[in-house]
Amino acid sequence: QVLNEYLDMKGNIRVFCRVRPMNVNENIGCARPVVATDSSNVFLKVARGNNKSYSFDKVFHPSSSQGEVFSEVEPVIKSALDGYNACIFAYGQTGTGKTFTMEGTRDFPGIVPRSIEALFEHALESNCTYLFTFSMLEIYLGNLKDLFVPQPKKPTDPRPPCLSVQMDARGGIEVENLVAIPVSDYNQALRLYKLGCRFRSTASTNSNLTSSRSHCMIRIKITCSDAPERRRESNKVWLVDLGGSERVLKTKAWGKRLEEGKAINLSLSALGDVINALQRKKPHIPFRNSKLTQVLKDSLGEDSKTLMLVHVSPKEEDLCETICTLGFAARVR
Ligand code: ADP
Ligand code: MG
Repeated sequence: QVLNEYLDMKGNIRVFCRVRPMNVNENIGCARPVVATDSSNVFLKVARGNNKSYSFDKVFHPSSSQGEVFSEVEPVIKSALDGYNACIFAYGQTGTGKTFTMEGTRDFPGIVPRSIEALFEHALESNCTYLFTFSMLEIYLGNLKDLFVPQPKKPTDPRPPCLSVQMDARGGIEVENLVAIPVSDYNQALRLYKLGCRFRSTASTNSNLTSSRSHCMIRIKITCSDAPERRRESNKVWLVDLGGSERVLKTKAWGKRLEEGKAINLSLSALGDVINALQRKKPHIPFRNSKLTQVLKDSLGEDSKTLMLVHVSPKEEDLCETICTLGFAARVR
């Protein structure tokens, strides 16, 4: 309620920051965290007292729970039942907790399962009949891939065609031929989610390393079946676990890895440019510069609620990337 009023008052894009806790190994190594927080600021302890601070709409301390995070996210999810499109992004360097925030674990479920649960719950309380469909896609090397279309087992097998983005007469965006599966309860949707995760091209062996080179996007389409007079027939909720934001040229990547990293870096900066332009109400919004922003064209901006969840590591050795991440956040705020 409070957040909703706040969103209405202050425009539609909010930027939150979550600082991941030190993990067990880091604690044993006595690494001291270089990141401190209060409820709306992140402070960096930089050498020679050259400290920096960055402000956010909300900051989650390393000890913040999944439930605390979701309580700030839920109003945005709910707004999708009130006629808004919603986009929730997890941004940050690999290893900072994006997937933990979005997917979570069995014991600590994240935004995806909680959002699905909340949507069905609130839909029941409403006097409107909602229909939901569930889709999942991945953007890898600038190509859109449907996660519900089986991929070839051998490299020589024919590949399904990449999806393309189409705009309808009213400016609505559709990913052509994207599989959208009707879902009527939480368990059904969650089973699909797990299935989609299994089909990620990057889901194989070293999953944290490889999953960081693609964007994983969930789309929940919501149609209110008994409100024909509504301005728009269906709304979309996008839940996006973005590729790792680490700057590829600073790493020792080469060949395929370098290519993948460059594709991610380009699309993340295109996303930053779009959100920056929206926040500053610029006349031209550069949606065309990446597949990511093309797909989301009708789900960012007016009639939409956007949450950018920026993730940082508390570790000293990650400080350079942390500064870059916080710089991105400052640009989109
Ligand atoms: P990313 O998706 O950004 O690469 P992960 O979500 O895979 O990062 O997180 C890296 C590791 O840190 C995982 O083992 C994850 O469980 C752990 N982790 C991240 N954030 C938290 C958190 N807030 N609380 C507890 N563990 C976390
Ligand atoms: Mg991840």
